[in-house]
Amino acid sequence: MLRETIRALAESKIAPFAAAVDEESRFPQEALDALVASDLHAVHVPEVYGGAGADALATVIVIEEVARVCASSSLIPAVNKLGSLPVILSGSEELKAKYLGPLAKGDAMFSYALSEPDAGSDAAGMKTKAVRDGDFWVLNGVKRWITNAGVSEYYTVMAVTDPEKRSKGISAFVVEKSDEGVSFGAPEKKLGIKGSPTREIYLDNVRIPADRMIGEEGTGFATAMKTLDHTRITIAAQALGIAQGALDYAKGYVQERKQFGKPIADFQGIQFMLADMAMKIEAARQLTYAAAAKSERGDADLTFQGAAAKCFASDVAMEVTTDAVQLLGGYGYTRDYPVERMMRDAKITQIYEGTNQVQRIVMARNLP
Ligand SMILES: Cc1cc2nc3c(=O)[nH]c(=O)nc-3n(C[C@H](O)[C@H](O)[C@H](O)COP(=O)(O)OP(=O)(O)OC[C@H]3O[C@@H](n4cnc5c(N)ncnc54)[C@H](O)[C@@H]3O)c2cc1C
Repeated sequence: MLRETIRALAESKIAPFAAAVDEESRFPQEALDALVASDLHAVHVPEVYGGAGADALATVIVIEEVARVCASSSLIPAVNKLGSLPVILSGSEELKAKYLGPLAKGDAMFSYALSEPDAGSDAAGMKTKAVRDGDFWVLNGVKRWITNAGVSEYYTVMAVTDPEKRSKGISAFVVEKSDEGVSFGAPEKKLGIKGSPTREIYLDNVRIPADRMIGEEGTGFATAMKTLDHTRITIAAQALGIAQGALDYAKGYVQERKQFGKPIADFQGIQFMLADMAMKIEAARQLTYAAAAKSERGDADLTFQGAAAKCFASDVAMEVTTDAVQLLGGYGYTRDYPVERMMRDAKITQIYEGTNQVQRIVMARNLP
């Protein structure tokens, strides 16, 4: 029922704007409005804080169905989870009450600020600092590549509070867009997900109350990594949705397109490509849904499974979207058809929330 609801909404209210959002590199406001109106913009927020209380699998289905028509728009529910999960996992009751309510209502979005210009895969090498000053912390530094930066009201920001201790000297904070000293860089000019703003965040003597720290001092990096264990599954869902969207489009196209006097779908060479695409998508789906169930239960092997789902599904998305372009021939290579956008959008799923090389490092360290 959830899938039917979100698919109908995605097809009627989000798909019609997907090409324009990409072409104009603009935020998908129509998608945000439609998702908020149906309470599907941050479904993971627990009911006690006014949210829909969707479990990890339901959240995955929402993201998958939005990504099937518009990958940029799927970053609304996905990044709302990514940004707020540190608060849900490790925040005080006060922080949860203060920040999850507006998120659930659709009054505010939440972003996640871990990466920096010189700290990507090696996120623990971050330079952003937070220094204690009485009942306040003062933050200085630059965060890079922050999804929905400038649009979101709230940011989980990881900063060094004890430079001697490397990852154990990192703490997490909630920073608000309106805090004095917060500003944003120009939107990055990207290959894909062009509707999702990606910007730097500049923190210039940002003075925030001490109770904005998420969890204990020095636990921020652990919270950031624990968050990714759960949210990599949402990137797997995004990849899965993009791949399904490309297959669905290509499947229709090959039945219409005629060469040598018959639909190209009649050629076995084409049928085998479609069969492989569908087989890979189904394998990615099973891995992603199983990982979502593990996320919900908090299983001990979640770290491996989340990395495996993200890595596998994103590689599948890249292969399937590339094959979808191939199935449309020259037409697939143009912006008159959606598959080239899907191919460009798929690429990011192999890079963010840890590159697929990093996922393989994570898997190797946590072999079942
Ligand atoms: C569009 C977009 C949105 C993003 N959104 C967010 C966000 O909202 N919040 C956030 O915090 N970050 C975000 N990121 C950052 C993203 O997570 C990083 O770009 C990513 O983790 C890689 O870091 P890097 O770009 O510095 O690459 P690098 O770490 O410099 O990696 C370069 C290459 O080296 C490889 N590599 C690095 N170390 C190793 C190793 N040990 N072994 C093998 N290979 C290695 C990488 O896999 C990659 O191929 C976003 C990035 C993009 C592009």
